[in-house]
Amino acid sequence: MQFTNAYLSTEIEYLKGVGPTRGKLLREETGIHNFQDLLNYFPFRYVDKSVISSIRDIHKGTDYIQLVGTITSVEQSGFKGRTRLNATLKDATGVIQLVWFQGAAWIKNKLTRGKTYKVYGKVSFYKGKRSIAHPDLEPFNPQQKLKVSYEPIYSTTEKLRKKGLDSYGLQKLMRQLFSGMKASFLPEFFSDDILSNYSLISRPKLYRNIHFPKSKELLAKARYRIKFEDLFIHQLNILKIKLDRYNSTPGPLFENVGELFNQFYSEVLPFQLTGAQKRVLKEIRRDTAQGKHMNRLLQGDVGSGKTIVALMSALLAIDNDFQATLMAPTEILAQQHFESTQAELNKLNVKVELLTGSIKGKKRKDILKSLRTGYIQLLIGTHALIEDPVEFKNLGIAIIDEQHRFGVAQRAKLWNKRKGNMAPHILVMTATPIPRTLAMTNFGDLDVSVIDELPPGRKPVKTMHKTERNRDRLVGFMKEEIAKGRQIYVVYPLIEESEKLDLKDLFGGFNDLQNYFPYPDYRTSVVHGRMKPAEKEAEMKRFVDGTTHIMVATTVIEVGVNVPNASVMIIENASRFGLAQLHQLRGRVGRGAEQSYCILMTKTEISEYAKQRINTMVRTNNGFEIAEADLQLRGPGEIEGTRQSGEVSFRLANLAEDRKIAELARKCALQVLKNDSDLSTTKNQPLRDYLSQSAHQATIWSKIS
Ligand code: ADP
Ligand code: MG
Repeated sequence: MQFTNAYLSTEIEYLKGVGPTRGKLLREETGIHNFQDLLNYFPFRYVDKSVISSIRDIHKGTDYIQLVGTITSVEQSGFKGRTRLNATLKDATGVIQLVWFQGAAWIKNKLTRGKTYKVYGKVSFYKGKRSIAHPDLEPFNPQQKLKVSYEPIYSTTEKLRKKGLDSYGLQKLMRQLFSGMKASFLPEFFSDDILSNYSLISRPKLYRNIHFPKSKELLAKARYRIKFEDLFIHQLNILKIKLDRYNSTPGPLFENVGELFNQFYSEVLPFQLTGAQKRVLKEIRRDTAQGKHMNRLLQGDVGSGKTIVALMSALLAIDNDFQATLMAPTEILAQQHFESTQAELNKLNVKVELLTGSIKGKKRKDILKSLRTGYIQLLIGTHALIEDPVEFKNLGIAIIDEQHRFGVAQRAKLWNKRKGNMAPHILVMTATPIPRTLAMTNFGDLDVSVIDELPPGRKPVKTMHKTERNRDRLVGFMKEEIAKGRQIYVVYPLIEESEKLDLKDLFGGFNDLQNYFPYPDYRTSVVHGRMKPAEKEAEMKRFVDGTTHIMVATTVIEVGVNVPNASVMIIENASRFGLAQLHQLRGRVGRGAEQSYCILMTKTEISEYAKQRINTMVRTNNGFEIAEADLQLRGPGEIEGTRQSGEVSFRLANLAEDRKIAELARKCALQVLKNDSDLSTTKNQPLRDYLSQSAHQATIWSKIS
């Protein structure tokens, strides 16, 4: 079936009322290049013209409004050729000016003082005065019943407005577009089953009603179909990729649960695995024992024990004569993974190495060589590993820690590390729970495991919000905790644009702290992004081994660092952190058996938005709840990790609000692929044609013969 047609592909200049000048502007300002683009330029809201507002209702945010009132004065001013007409409209609640810059004489004849008119237009505010320029205006009989009708409001720009393309001008273009439109230009691509099962309206009806809604219900249906359509197609694409990968790419076969795995489990592991850890390991074993390719996302709140799962997965690979790699987002974290696993793995005689950016020269060369020969069995490093020309002999599994910083594109690079047709299993781990809808859209090609249980004996971290006024008491509290033998983190924000300022904060804070906590009774470490890796490491080490009591740091300690004896996390300027970050930071404490505390320090006055974030932190320790709150507060575009993978964009769907539709769309896409994975049945032919004819979808669907 043909989904492109001559009319919709027509260049925008050829629409009556556009022409070269406006056409160029439309292309530049709105990305509208042809009729089809214009058709997809949706109103951002609608004014119900059966509703009459009062002049009193006008506020700063008011744009288009409909009023009924009497004209109390009409006044022409200016010179010949440049006259303007002012009229005053009055209703029971107030007055407003109506202004005409053109056609003053003609309008003046239409207006009668003392008569009642219905007026519709855009309110502008100039020097504190409100007026409506060039309103629609007609005599009105108050007994008259108004029919429901929706006026579309289009977003526009200053440049467009100057060329007459304000919302109303765009509306006129849209009407022009529809006057040449035929239903046959918009053929259906959904099967009848889908249309009826998901109550979707037809495409011609959708487009007509999204621009010129006949009723509230039809508008809702149009919006629903647009959201469903976009979410469905996106799901269909990622599920298809997943399916093809799964069917076409073998994964390394981990047949044996071998000696190392068992020995580790029975002799080295210092504790019982939690039920959730066991379950996830089973899922990983099941995947890898099949010879199919594993692509798995492991979500587990901070402190839930993901590292052990990673390590045991690596042992599975090594037991089967494959290499494994564990990648972390920062050098410190990679270092810490290396140190903590080295001790354990030495007992098993497993060859483990660390490779980060600061390992250079001969050492680096040696490591790279031992990787190629297969001597090194487990390589721990930073995410940069995949950028570098690191070559493995036979990489069986790549484990990526703290996925929220690891975008889709990077995952694709890993995929390219495959040898021949075989790609390493991929396990990505994240401590920033991803709300369901986001996980579905951004990581929908992955299988998901969840560790939803913390190791036994943990006391939930107590979180408090304090301000400068509480500073002295805070210092007292810190001293008490240190006297009990505990350690403390003090964290300052570090945001790239204002790094200098933040460092000033950090050093200022550090000086204050040294006054409060004088050496040698108290010892303090500092770690920040400007330090050389070796310095950082040395400072970090002093804290890890208990030499220092307080660690003053920028967010470099955010991810993964594990110091079970640290029981207090103080976050300075907490209002400058996002929720996900705050939660990450809090996760650095509460790792031992003692009661831990997280103290969020802010100024006395903070914004409403910051207050909501802080309150969420105080209210709950549950990472999933925090992720949902974050999504609601910030909107999906802002959630970390989705920005990098920003290829996902929808016309109307909003992942914070449209979770239900997203789930339905995924269900529908799964169903379609389950019954017809290539969309080769007659029923799905139109859908397949549609996908292969839409430029950005074509890659996936046109390759399939
Ligand atoms: P995260 O999921 O945040 O990466 P870690 O893997 O760093 O968490 O684990 C946090 C702490 O919990 C570590 O000290 C680890 O040794 C400990 N731990 C992990 N699993 C268990 C368990 N089953 N029982 C007791 N302690 C555990
Ligand atoms: Mg971790």
